[in-house]
Amino acid sequence: MYDVIIIGGGPSGASAGRRAGKLDLNALLLEKEEFPRYKPCGGGLSNHAISYLDFELPGDVVEWEITGAKVFFKNQLMEAHKDHRLSVLVSRDLFDNLLLEKAKETGIEVHTGEKALCCREMPDYVEVETNKGIYRAKFAIVAEGAQGLVKTCVRPVDTKEEYGICVVTEVPADEKEIEEKLGRAVELHFGAIGGGYGWIFPHKTYYSVGIGGVIKDLPHPKETMLEFLKANGFAGEYKLHGHKIPWGGIKRKVSGSRVLLSGDAAGFVDSFSGEGLAYAISSGQFAAEVIAEICQNGKIKNIKKYESLCYDEFGTHLKYSLMFSRIMHRFPEKTFKIFTSSDKMIDKYLEVVDYSIDYRDYLRWSLLNFKLR
Ligand SMILES: Cc1cc2nc3c(=O)[nH]c(=O)nc-3n(C[C@H](O)[C@H](O)[C@H](O)COP(=O)(O)OP(=O)(O)OC[C@H]3O[C@@H](n4cnc5c(N)ncnc54)[C@H](O)[C@@H]3O)c2cc1C
Repeated sequence: MYDVIIIGGGPSGASAGRRAGKLDLNALLLEKEEFPRYKPCGGGLSNHAISYLDFELPGDVVEWEITGAKVFFKNQLMEAHKDHRLSVLVSRDLFDNLLLEKAKETGIEVHTGEKALCCREMPDYVEVETNKGIYRAKFAIVAEGAQGLVKTCVRPVDTKEEYGICVVTEVPADEKEIEEKLGRAVELHFGAIGGGYGWIFPHKTYYSVGIGGVIKDLPHPKETMLEFLKANGFAGEYKLHGHKIPWGGIKRKVSGSRVLLSGDAAGFVDSFSGEGLAYAISSGQFAAEVIAEICQNGKIKNIKKYESLCYDEFGTHLKYSLMFSRIMHRFPEKTFKIFTSSDKMIDKYLEVVDYSIDYRDYLRWSLLNFKLR
């Protein structure tokens, strides 16, 4: 009987595992893949996300430093930068592997190549069935990402209105060329993908190029992605990876009586930008902390504390990101025109990226400033 079984060894599961190990929980982490493994992602790791790590990021994991953004809408280009770093770019195979190694360092048991098939909540324990056996624990954390089905022990799978779709590829390029094209900026392209956007992010040996939006805006994601690649001068043949992304901010059930959902499994993503790493890491850590507390004091009802910890930490941010995103999807032409109407609008948005203001502040500021122009 373990104290906790963690399903998924991505950023959320690995962060839960490290915190569980540090809090002396008897923990088992199950990951279906062998690491390092590929994960479709832009690889943008914000300062906000980095602030949750309790160790220094090694230099070889940091591939690029970002201070600003180039934002395109139709033929317009807006660019803004801050005088400090906003985020770094990482390759998810290496970054996720690092987080899993950091979890292992604390002495928890990790089984890679073992897939959880389902999780059953019993009155006194949970039972997790995998392709290799059955395990029992007092609690479980489901950190299986957006696409898994183990989470259905807590809530139904998302409907088509509750998640978006992304397509991403890596375009090889040399560092000098990347530096000349992007400098310290990420490129964001609005207007071609309904209320969603396309991105070009710099990495050490490649560009991460992708598109993302809600299903109704992306009926033919592959074709839209091919057009986006072509429009940006990427003429080669590239391996495309499609992946679901939760439309964040929607209030979903994230806890059962003995099971907690964290990261993408809980739907914790900024619904406008698609940023999920900060919320995956912090929610994983909260889940382990709440379970450690219950293992100490026996107060099982305190499992609900998990939800309030998450909502207090980032609930408002995600709620207003959803509102902002819904406005963008409802009136894409008008809103993107406003969003890209001046460098100042982009400069202010970088404060949202930097987590120094939230979307509510940004909306208020935009309304005021746009009226005054
Ligand atoms: C194309 C794309 C681009 C993105 N770009 C960014 C970005 O630039 N910056 C950012 O902050 N966020 C980005 N995101 C969001 C970010 O990738 C997620 O929020 C983040 O990966 C969530 O971490 P997680 O640990 O919850 O889930 P995941 O990273 O999906 O990890 C889940 C893990 O669980 C394992 N697993 C799944 N099912 C089982 C099972 N049954 N048994 C055992 N193991 C299982 C999987 O193999 C995986 O390793 C992007 C998402 C997409 C799709």
